[in-house]
Amino acid sequence: MAGLVVAVDGPSGSGKSSASRGVARELGLRYLDTGAQYRAMTWWMLEHGVEVGDQEAVAARAAEPVLESGTDPQGPTIHVDGADVATAIRGDAVTGSVSLVAAVPEVRRRLVALQREIIGEGGIVVEGRDIGSVVAPDATLKVYLTASAEARANRRTAELTGTTVEAQQAAMARRDTLDSTRKTDPLSMAAGAVELDTTALNLEEVIATVVRLVKERA
Ligand code: C5P
Repeated sequence: MAGLVVAVDGPSGSGKSSASRGVARELGLRYLDTGAQYRAMTWWMLEHGVEVGDQEAVAARAAEPVLESGTDPQGPTIHVDGADVATAIRGDAVTGSVSLVAAVPEVRRRLVALQREIIGEGGIVVEGRDIGSVVAPDATLKVYLTASAEARANRRTAELTGTTVEAQQAAMARRDTLDSTRKTDPLSMAAGAVELDTTALNLEEVIATVVRLVKERA
């Protein structure tokens, strides 16, 4: 399992995080949440008063934040300039702006380089939007997780408080459209990826399916 890289991509709410962590735990691999890195970059821009809708303004400061990702699947961590931002990056302000920041080429260039550094010699499950297509095109296994828009909104609503399924479905549709239509590294199913529709599956079933696929390839 040492040199193994498992790439897990898909739209928001498709169950990537829970599934990827579960697979990493089961196989004794590290786990990297690249969405948390884009969120941390966005949090830093908002904290520093950068106009996130202005691509040039974001690009000009993209090299500044110091990001650190902890890759233990039992307790992944994310720090920016030494501050623990694990909770802050899940708030509405960041969620509403992250797709704008993630569309900026300078941001992507920097984070893709950081992700490749963390992947290193492998032994890791990496989740995001462009892992199989851009970050690790030679991954041992590439999985593309999908689920119906309704199932995705239901799952996300269950994780949050003070929101409705309708509001979540609208917010996710907006984010998915931005993520799939941006010019640089849009969300897409990578060549050679295995598509897994999780609508009718529970978490244990998704984890078991991915673990079986990894073992077949490894
Ligand atoms: O996975 P999560 O929903 O936390 O990702 C937040 C956002 O980060 C996505 O909506 C997308 O805009 C961006 N992202 C990305 N590429 C990745 C991972 C996340 O553009 N590899």
